[in-house]
Amino acid sequence: MPTASPRKPRKKKGALPPVAGLPKRVKRRGWKALFGGPSFFGNLATTILTFLILMSIYSLITGVAQPNKEIPLSAVAADVAAGKVSAITVNGDALNLSYADGSAKTSRKDPSAGLPETLATYGVTPEELAKVAITIQGQSGFEFWFLNLAPIFIPILFIAFLFWFLSRQVRGAGMQAFSFGQSKARITDPADSSQRVTFADVAGAREAKEELFEIVDFLKNPKKFLDIGARIPKGIILMGAPGTGKTLLARAVAGEAGVPFFSISGSEFVEMFVGVGASRVRDLFQMAKKAAPAIIFVDEIDAVGRTRGAGMGGGNDEREQTLNQILVEMDGFEPTEKVVVMAATNRPDVLDPALLRPGRFDRRVTIDLPDRRDREEILKIHARKKPLGPDVVLSVIAERTPGFSGAELYSLMNEGAILAARDNRKEVTQYDLIRSIEKVMLGPERKSHLLSQKEKELTAYHEAGHALVSSVLEHADPVHKISIISRGRAAGYTLKLPFDDRKMQSKKQFLDDIAATLGGYVAEEMLFDDVTTGPSNDLQVITALARDMVSRYGMSDKLGPIAFGERELGREPYSEQVAAEIDAEVSRIIEEGKARAAKVIGEHRGALDAIAKELMEKETVERDGFEKILVLNGITPKKKEEDIRAAAPLQK
Ligand code: ADP
Ligand code: ZN
Ligand code: MG
Repeated sequence: MPTASPRKPRKKKGALPPVAGLPKRVKRRGWKALFGGPSFFGNLATTILTFLILMSIYSLITGVAQPNKEIPLSAVAADVAAGKVSAITVNGDALNLSYADGSAKTSRKDPSAGLPETLATYGVTPEELAKVAITIQGQSGFEFWFLNLAPIFIPILFIAFLFWFLSRQVRGAGMQAFSFGQSKARITDPADSSQRVTFADVAGAREAKEELFEIVDFLKNPKKFLDIGARIPKGIILMGAPGTGKTLLARAVAGEAGVPFFSISGSEFVEMFVGVGASRVRDLFQMAKKAAPAIIFVDEIDAVGRTRGAGMGGGNDEREQTLNQILVEMDGFEPTEKVVVMAATNRPDVLDPALLRPGRFDRRVTIDLPDRRDREEILKIHARKKPLGPDVVLSVIAERTPGFSGAELYSLMNEGAILAARDNRKEVTQYDLIRSIEKVMLGPERKSHLLSQKEKELTAYHEAGHALVSSVLEHADPVHKISIISRGRAAGYTLKLPFDDRKMQSKKQFLDDIAATLGGYVAEEMLFDDVTTGPSNDLQVITALARDMVSRYGMSDKLGPIAFGERELGREPYSEQVAAEIDAEVSRIIEEGKARAAKVIGEHRGALDAIAKELMEKETVERDGFEKILVLNGITPKKKEEDIRAAAPLQK
């Protein structure tokens, strides 16, 4: 039963959302790729068959021109001299003889010599020849050319066809077909417009785009930079929370520059066998250099680029070798190399400093979570192909989704379209989108998950506890909606939205947040004198938050402004004693939060009962109804201009 505030600090670890439209992994390799896989032999058979058919057609045609009853020239001369021949038709070098007795024969003469001369050399006198009707027949154009040129051209045509056929197979397999060997890289061909991404597809991230524009300029126009002796950055690292569009932006750089984009994920380097990763890196860089100007993109580089020597042997050897190979390759770049290496990570804190040294990934581009304006732009981009109803106001959706990443906004739009399609509507409505916000944030509603009367009461009080404490404490976020309809893994939820996009959070906000999150636990304990497993997620969240406050943000008075590193096996950034002190501080913060929550609930018991009662009746209470209850119980609701606007169109 979490309090869902989208502003909650996100865990930085974890899998990235699936990326739409990435090029397919190259599976075909070596000869199989070159020849288009197993079907190649089938195709070869077709080719040979075609060839044989062509040949037999050829011999058929030439065969017709050469009937069998061919006699030597000497016999022709003899027959002419004997007066047996009545007519001769000359067709090129072919002679068709008609005999006085009606029979016909053929013969051949030397093509360069005329028939009378030829016969004369065989001793035929002009008088004897005069008795024969000689017709000179021109060969028809086609026949002439075909018969003369076919023997030369058919093989050439055949070979040309074979080449065309093979090259088509190769192109079918994509550019990868040429010796992509082991690298496992995906490649986006700049000519493939279906996969092309440009800066227009990336909303917001203005600073990042500005930085990257220089890279685009270089890749488009390397000569301009090289002529003036400018050293172009070899490595650019994109840093930002998951789903903020790092991968998208890297692809957009390639798309804008119109260069091939070799992309591989850091985790793909990490294989079982030592040395495979390093050889993949070598392969990848070699390919990119051949295709230069080009971009190499190593996604999730933290998988290989973690601080070296941090862990225990085994798989780390492999990681280290891979990382070393990346560094070696980058150091080995000629100053004139037109290959730019980009990398992305959501954990810049764990990267090996060697990666970030000058001459390597020395350009850092940070991508923040989108602010309200950017969120609206991102929504617009993803609404492009979705027909929106006339009531849709994307700015309102943007206002209600602080803390959403680009990827989450993308899935929000998508969920909205799915809701519309499920109702067989042709347009996405505002209500579809509003429902999708909660779905993306908390998972789908589970209306079938029926609570017993007792569970319902417990859940209602739990959520009422969150909502009440959140409303009373000054720095906590205002409540937009409370519900005891279960969603995802939560039995109920309290939706809070911060007033605006806050890039920074203060200690006071954190403390009020912790108290509000404990409000559920405290309400259960007070009312039922018992605690359920319900708040376990709440407790996880606040424990992590309190620990971060103490060890990362320097928010503990006792330990002071020190950022303690993470304790991992084999790495001890601080002593056992400090570890114990941190634990003690975490406990103290949580205890204090609990006491503050208990104080609020004790003082406003009437409000708590009223909220819980309303929840049990209606299951979902929107902001207006909630604030009416607060006012009736003497609590002034939090108000702010912008916030009021955002809340207006909520329906249900
Ligand atoms: P990351 O690599 O930072 O985890 P991705 O680039 O994979 O994030 O983003 C995932 C998806 O989210 C993208 O494919 C895109 O649809 C959407 N998205 C993220 N950021 C933006 C943005 N700034 N503009 C438009 N769409 C975005
Ligand atoms: Zn809760
Ligand atoms: Mg990514």
